[in-house]
Amino acid sequence: MEPFDLVVIGAGAAGLAAATTAAEMGARVAVAEAGPLGGLSVNRGCVPKKTLVTSGRVHRLVRDAGTFGTVGGEVRLDWDAVVQRQHRVVDQLRPTAADLEKRGIRVVVGVARFTDPHIVEVDGRPLGAERFVIAAGSEPAILEIPGRERCITSDQLLFLPAFPTSLTFVGGGPVALELAGAFADFGSRVTVLARDAEVLPGVDPDVARHLRKRMEERGVTFRLQTAVRRLAPVAGGVRIEFDSAGMANELTSSQVCAAVGRRFHPRTIGAARIGLEMGRLGLRTSPYLCTSVPHIYAAGDAAGNRQLTPVAEHEGRIAAVNALRGDVERADEAVIPQVIFTTPEVATVGLAYGEAPAQGLHPAVARQDARGSHNGVATAEDAGYFKLVFDQDTQRLIGAQMVSPAAAELIQLCALAIRSRVPATVVAGQLAAHPSHGERLLKTFGPEPPVVSRVTQSAGVVESRP
Ligand SMILES: Cc1cc2nc3c(=O)[nH]c(=O)nc-3n(C[C@H](O)[C@H](O)[C@H](O)COP(=O)(O)OP(=O)(O)OC[C@H]3O[C@@H](n4cnc5c(N)ncnc54)[C@H](O)[C@@H]3O)c2cc1C
Repeated sequence: MEPFDLVVIGAGAAGLAAATTAAEMGARVAVAEAGPLGGLSVNRGCVPKKTLVTSGRVHRLVRDAGTFGTVGGEVRLDWDAVVQRQHRVVDQLRPTAADLEKRGIRVVVGVARFTDPHIVEVDGRPLGAERFVIAAGSEPAILEIPGRERCITSDQLLFLPAFPTSLTFVGGGPVALELAGAFADFGSRVTVLARDAEVLPGVDPDVARHLRKRMEERGVTFRLQTAVRRLAPVAGGVRIEFDSAGMANELTSSQVCAAVGRRFHPRTIGAARIGLEMGRLGLRTSPYLCTSVPHIYAAGDAAGNRQLTPVAEHEGRIAAVNALRGDVERADEAVIPQVIFTTPEVATVGLAYGEAPAQGLHPAVARQDARGSHNGVATAEDAGYFKLVFDQDTQRLIGAQMVSPAAAELIQLCALAIRSRVPATVVAGQLAAHPSHGERLLKTFGPEPPVVSRVTQSAGVVESRP
């Protein structure tokens, strides 16, 4: 058996970052992968999702083209072409074993399971190493209700062979809303059954409400505070029985997609055999990403932190460095932009208002409804809503949440403002390009923008400046 300095389990965003980092550090490294290289993000997550969302937007735009003065013929959906494009994009972006081998990384195909703290077996072949990084990702949570086999997950929905004329999502989180918006754009009758009083748990409720209203205008039906009880087969689809505000209800849909979260499953790597301990969504790790077994590190969804590709890459790199050099770098990155690719987009970064006091900060909120902006009216888009959190003592931005057609790009400006610790007045003093979606964001930085409210923590009141 060839000994390696480091074996990485999983070749998704986290595993590829870990293996590449280790190879660049001169280590002998192997990566074991049971499925296609690139993992969730490239094959069943970010990439096909963004491709589908883009195809949906194009379909709606062409349907509505008359508004902009372009009159075409009959618009019809070629679903096969949409799915074929998904496959083409994924194939183009999926890394190859040859790419990795060129960088000095040995690729071992198969399911890796620990048989000993220093050995994994990959489909029966032993692979030994001094150190390991577990980057084995996550799996969709299963609905624990009768008839659950009637529903699919995002894995299947992204490449569905037949277009669903009606589609119901169980769950009101980012994945459900992104895909709900895309299928509504294609003309499917879409319903979202969300458990909580508002969609997007963890996102500011004003921001989440703003998005929900826009999605309702685009034809998505939302039922909030629901509990799905049972799924049953009916001709042409599935009957969904659910409670809504304490009342029994039901609806029928051609497809039902459960999007109720994801978690790492320890059995996928034989974790119990070597005493690896679990946390809430992933393996229990130290701030240095070390698991409960000292020579084994974890990264990405397997480590149970924020389930995002940039986090997985960041953690993969840190896990490799710490595994090979001792615990030298912590993984507590606080400035993580997150984008939800709905129309309009939602983006968040840094601290929410309620999280700031625990860090010894005195937050103040500035917010701005950008509807009616010159750019929004000219482009026929909802220009969105911005909510910024400042530290009153330093007058610096500490968090931002927004709905905007350009949120994925604008949030990066906010992330930079937080990281570089520039005073809000410096950002506010920057002249904005016109007409642009960023104009209203820059205005939200103050010092006294036209429509700004500040919420003081002690009083909990809203002070509006006309
Ligand atoms: C529909 C959807 C859309 C998303 N969109 C976004 C987005 O827009 N932006 C964003 O930042 N994040 C998004 N995410 C989240 C993001 O995709 C994940 O957080 C990220 O891909 C996790 O990377 P990872 O490397 O930890 O895991 P993965 O990419 O899942 O990689 C784990 C790999 O390990 C392999 N593996 C598992 N067990 C074994 C084993 N025993 N032996 C060998 N190999 C094994 C798996 O086959 C897999 O390839 C989305 C997720 C979903 C589901």
